[in-house]
Amino acid sequence: MTMNANVAGLTARNCEFVSRTLSYIASNRFDRPTLVVDAEAVAAKYHALARGLGRARIHYAVKANPAPGILQRLVAEGANFDAASRAEIDMCLAAGAQPEQISFGNTIKRPTDIAYAHRLGITHFAADAAEELDKLAEHAPGASVYLRMLVDNTEADWPLSRKFGSSAEMVLKLMDQARDAGLVVAGLSFHVGSQTRAPQMWAGTLDQVAAVWHQARAAGHDLQLLNIGGGFPASYGAEMLPAEDYARAVMALVTERFGEVPQIMAEPGRGLVAEAGAIAAEVLLVSRKDADDLHRWAYLDIGMFSGLAETMGEAIRYRITTERDHEPTGPCILAGPSCDSADVLYERIPYQLPLGLKAGDRVVIHSCGAYTSTYASVGFNGFPPLDVVVI
Ligand SMILES: *Cc1c(COP(=O)(O)O)cnc(C)c1O
Repeated sequence: MTMNANVAGLTARNCEFVSRTLSYIASNRFDRPTLVVDAEAVAAKYHALARGLGRARIHYAVKANPAPGILQRLVAEGANFDAASRAEIDMCLAAGAQPEQISFGNTIKRPTDIAYAHRLGITHFAADAAEELDKLAEHAPGASVYLRMLVDNTEADWPLSRKFGSSAEMVLKLMDQARDAGLVVAGLSFHVGSQTRAPQMWAGTLDQVAAVWHQARAAGHDLQLLNIGGGFPASYGAEMLPAEDYARAVMALVTERFGEVPQIMAEPGRGLVAEAGAIAAEVLLVSRKDADDLHRWAYLDIGMFSGLAETMGEAIRYRITTERDHEPTGPCILAGPSCDSADVLYERIPYQLPLGLKAGDRVVIHSCGAYTSTYASVGFNGFPPLDVVVI
């Protein structure tokens, strides 16, 4: 495959890392779909985000990609971690993180996991409900809690609205409850929505959160911590603002609304790891349903249940390259290999793929470092979970 086709739209700095991943893929054979992630690229992205975020601390959202090689590298670079479960906490510890570097950011926690985290010395927990505060008061007495706000985030490509957070009025009540239960009311958190493509898209969400922040302070809560969550985007082919500039622009919007907050934390997941990875996959079948079908169907050895869950609703459109990209192309519906008819990746907007594409061809799926390996089922139809190699 030619480099020029593969790096279109990426910055010069990214090219260097993209080429490391792609040359690894080009020089290896894989007997199943394999995600190759470049730890150097993750480290570079970490530092770019850190420069842009200034004094905000980075807590990597572990769920995006918990490969030991990535966690170890981030520990070495000085990152902190946002874990959602006991298992994620253990992965961070195994990679060398200290309990002080880990926050427990899931608002839906198992009581025994809370007690485990508390025993380890983890001090910061998220909550968005009265019952969760009861659990924290019982199993992590005296812990610091940040309350997650429900925000409208319709501008993100992968919104996280509705399921998480509580309303402004509810958050203020929960702060009183937490204080009365002996917890430390540290501050507020929110998530602007994953893959929020432009910094200006944060403004409306930040306005909503700032209003509650100021009300809470007026009501006597001495808030110290603002957790701005994730949402930092990755490039899936389109030209994006470099990570450092994006993060700096978000911080300017934060400062405008919140002034000098004592502690700020950010929880990038996708923005840190997505571009650092690519998947080597294979075409299993190319067919037409009828002789005069305008579209071909291309079935890959990876699908919705083996790593490409974010193709759901065609929300994330990965860039896909083949070894025939110099050949003429035509529209293709892309589907996974499993026996579930929901396992169609892209149909509404078909992909232009080489007319000569055939079974056995390698395809490379780009910017796949986030939300792929963790979304792979354990063996639907016997297809193994996505293999991960960190280079
Ligand atoms: C998933 C998640 C993140 C990471 O979001 P990205 O959009 O991948 O950066 C951060 N914080 C919380 C609480 C999350 O659930």
